Amino acid sequence: MEIKKTDILIVGTGASGLFAALHMPSDKEVLMITKDTAEHSDSYLAQGGICVQRDEEDFDSFLEDTLKAGHYENRRESVEIMIRSSRKIIDELIGLGVDFARKDGKLDYTREGCHSKPRILFHEDITGQEITSKLLQAVRKLPNVTILEQVTMLDLIEKENQCLGIAAKREDGTVLGISAGETIFASGGIGGLYTHSTNYPHLTGDALAIALRHGVELEHIDYIQIHPTTLYSQKPGRRFLISESVRGEGAKLYNAKGQRFANEVLPRDLLTEAIRKQMREDQKPYVWLDMTCLGEQVILGHFPHIYQHCLEEGYDVTRQWIPVVPAQHYFMGGIHVDSDSRTTMEHLYAVGETSCNGVHGANRLASNSLLESLVFARRAAEKIGCGAWETDPDKETDFMEIYRKTEAEIHRQEKNLAQIYKQEVLEEIERERRAR
Ligand SMILES: Cc1cc2nc3c(=O)[nH]c(=O)nc-3n(C[C@H](O)[C@H](O)[C@H](O)COP(=O)(O)OP(=O)(O)OC[C@H]3O[C@@H](n4cnc5c(N)ncnc54)[C@H](O)[C@@H]3O)c2cc1C
Repeated sequence: MEIKKTDILIVGTGASGLFAALHMPSDKEVLMITKDTAEHSDSYLAQGGICVQRDEEDFDSFLEDTLKAGHYENRRESVEIMIRSSRKIIDELIGLGVDFARKDGKLDYTREGCHSKPRILFHEDITGQEITSKLLQAVRKLPNVTILEQVTMLDLIEKENQCLGIAAKREDGTVLGISAGETIFASGGIGGLYTHSTNYPHLTGDALAIALRHGVELEHIDYIQIHPTTLYSQKPGRRFLISESVRGEGAKLYNAKGQRFANEVLPRDLLTEAIRKQMREDQKPYVWLDMTCLGEQVILGHFPHIYQHCLEEGYDVTRQWIPVVPAQHYFMGGIHVDSDSRTTMEHLYAVGETSCNGVHGANRLASNSLLESLVFARRAAEKIGCGAWETDPDKETDFMEIYRKTEAEIHRQEKNLAQIYKQEVLEEIERERRAR
């Protein structure tokens, strides 16, 4: 039996998990695990950028844009916290070496759908990779943080609504117990549950299934965002995103007859609806997106990776229209947390896309998720940092006792556990949707 003991356990090495790790007290031992390699997270895939409050006057308009996109179902307190914290987060990222685009030496801002003004910082069309790789670099330098790759959380170890740690599995199938004073789920979204998604397929909402089984409260679990424009392909696997900033910069949508049919900067849910309606009318599995009108300079300067990827798929976007189709993209719901990212179970936190702190309401405003992930990951770390760290020997005995039972149960079920979890999350989403 393999048992590990740590002060703080973080499940997930995306932007939210890494940023939490960076803000943990340096005298505490932090263990991070990830189901795949450290670089394989959706945070690396973010293209468009990260929002920031431009100046004091921008507060009201940023707030209104976020609430309007979220159909006013957002938790206002969380949105305010996010916006007020945004400049500090950006300054910190720049301090860590993140290279945002600049014009005449000053930060350059782009715009995406539903933003009333340009307030998005970007690095070409690979902002997520630029931010997350710098976070990973910084975390790897911390002597108190260990990252274990290819280790999958399988279950929670808890007693009387107190989280004591988890049970996990290595790539070779061996099961291990991780006892932790505090645990953070930073386990990303649910795209892996869908055939057409922009997400990594290993992101299957495991943390949600586990939370559900242990009575941890979930929120808005049926609020799932579909991205209106991904490159149409008949190949299996992840769908390639055509960032919203492409439309923000002026790209246009056309139907099969070559006519425009929608305002390209509508909120994602409304534009998705318009595209699906058009696809039905045209009886085609896609509509057309014209990037040629942006001109070669903008395409090659701002969207070089989209240009390259489309070229590899046989489309030169400087000369040709491309077929696009909506696909699952983001999860607004998740494990219910308060404004310090605490779940309804003691010693258990949730951050990033796995959590629901209410920032996004019923629909996420473009480029708010990286910011939200970082702001609330830091708040979780700060909350944990200022907690009392008393050692309770009973907890270790409890952990071992419950872990033994959990391990036996895992060995009994392990073969289909992943499938069972997927099914449970999908059923819960459907149950919630029907109840609404
Ligand atoms: C194509 C694409 C483009 C995007 N563009 C933007 C953008 O421009 N701006 C923006 O703000 N947002 C964007 N987003 C959304 C944003 O990238 C994500 O919401 C955000 O990065 C989520 O970060 P995270 O840390 O919560 O999760 P992730 O970065 O997805 O990390 C999840 C981690 O959890 C691990 N994990 C999951 N389950 C387990 C388990 N059972 N055991 C162990 N580890 C586990 C994974 O291996 C991974 O390390 C985009 C998303 C996609 C897919």
